[in-house]
Parts: sequence; structure tokens; C-alpha cells
Amino acid sequence: MTTIDIVPADERSAALRIEHVIWPDPLSLYGKRAKRLRELAVDHPEAAYLEFAAKVCTAQQEIFATLPHANAAPGMTRADALSTYELLAQPCWQEALTRLVQAMPAAAPAGMNEPARLVHQAQSLLQGRFGSVGQRESVFLWAALSLQWSHVAAHMPSRHDLQVPVQTRFDCPTCGSAPSASIVPGGKRGGLRYLHCPLCETRWHLVRAVCSCCGGDDEVEYWSVDEARAVVKLETCGDCHGYLKVCFADFDARADPVADDLASLHLDYEAERMGFLRTGINPFAFPADCP
Ligand SMILES: [Zn+2]
Ligand SMILES: [Zn+2]
Repeated sequence: MTTIDIVPADERSAALRIEHVIWPDPLSLYGKRAKRLRELAVDHPEAAYLEFAAKVCTAQQEIFATLPHANAAPGMTRADALSTYELLAQPCWQEALTRLVQAMPAAAPAGMNEPARLVHQAQSLLQGRFGSVGQRESVFLWAALSLQWSHVAAHMPSRHDLQVPVQTRFDCPTCGSAPSASIVPGGKRGGLRYLHCPLCETRWHLVRAVCSCCGGDDEVEYWSVDEARAVVKLETCGDCHGYLKVCFADFDARADPVADDLASLHLDYEAERMGFLRTGINPFAFPADCP
């Protein structure tokens, strides 16, 4: 009998040069996300909330372009800058928050103008203590923090400190956040899987055969409820019983790991019905506590 070695797409591609990290492009990404959310809202049972999320992203897009950003200090690595709370001491995110509240006064919760309290709440979110901050406050705070974090991720002085393989990283290599979802881009990166950070918006490569939570590779399965070529599928792991969604941009180039994740809550219900626990963070649907 002859055995045939079938080389997974990821490993075939590995023979080519893999971009281990895809840096964010904050000038355009929030606007694209807003557009995607509005497309997904059409005839959606949660249309009103998707429209609200789209308004937040539109405001982010407009604010980012004029926000007086502070760059990281020369010589500082991404890890230095984003894994510490030094950024919290800078005024950018609080200015962004003020502008977000001004842009959406009817939707903003009360009390978003008390600096000491906001810093405390921001620290809670960055430490994964989501349950201690209200959902609507979390959305506004995270949206403001993301504007500052994505700017720093996109403008760090050194772009070389993360040019090593990060296949073993399950949290964001630039800021340490859990991913929102995976994305399988089309085009030259077709077949590769990247995890997407919902805070600094960086993407990092992880082979598809490996669980994005525990690294196990024995019981990883992909599920779709609708069809084989569904844009969003579940990745479940029988080892750690975690799950994350995967967005297939090679099926639909508009797919966004935040928008498509938010618009596919039926998959979350299905995963939880099968006994899996969500490992990702969506900035418009925070978990009750740390995943
Ligand atoms: Zn990040
Ligand atoms: Zn796992």
C-alpha cells in the first residue's frame, strides 16, 4: 500500500515567505468596519445594535484622522509600549472618548467625564475584568482605547522586533489582548490564518490546524451552520473546550473579524449548546468576565 502525504495548505504556504504580523491601517479600518456592519444589519434580527456599532466605528474613523496622537518614545519596542499602562497616562484616549461622546450624545452613558473613574475602568478592561464595567461604558471606553493603541501599533519606531515567527502566540503579540476572531485572507495570503486583535487591530499568523486558545492540535474542528462556504465558521477545540470564530475573506473580501463576529451570534448559541466556551473578545459584546 502506498501512503500519500497530503501537505496542508498552511505548510505549503510556509515554504513561501509568511508575514508573521500584519500591522494595522487605522486610517481606513474603522470606516471599512462601519460599512460592513451596515451591510450585515440589513434584514438582521439585531439590526438596531449593528447600526449602533456602525455609528461608533464611523465616529472612530472620523476622530482618528484628527486625534493629537502621541507616538511611543524612540527605541521603545512594541512590547514595552503596549504591554504597560504608560499609554493610559497619555491624554489621547481620553480626548478620543470625549469626542466619541460628543458624536453620539444620545447613546453615550452618563458619567463619561470623570477622569479618575475612567482610568480605573480602562484598567479593568485591559486586565480582562469586563464584569466590573457596564456594557455600554465598555463599548465607548474600548473604542477610545483602540484609537490610541492602534495608532501606536501602526507607528512604533521599530518594525523588526516582531519579525520572528509567532505561531505559538495565542494573545496579541503587540498588546497582549485576546483575539476577536481569526481571519483567512484571500489573495497572496490565501489559506493562511491570522488572529485579529480587537484592541490594537494587529493580526498575527497561527497555523490553522492548531487551537487558537490552548495550542492543541488533536481535536480542532471547523463548523458551519449554514453552508460549506459560509463566511463565518466556528473553530472548536475538544482539548480545552474553547471556541473562536473564523472569517473567510477568501469567500467574501468584505469579512471583518469584529463585524462578522458580532453579526453571527447564532453561532455562539450553537457553540455554547455543544458545550464550548468563547475565548475571543468582541468590542461590542464583552463577556461577563475574563474569557
Ligand atoms: Zn493588540
Ligand atoms: Zn484548545
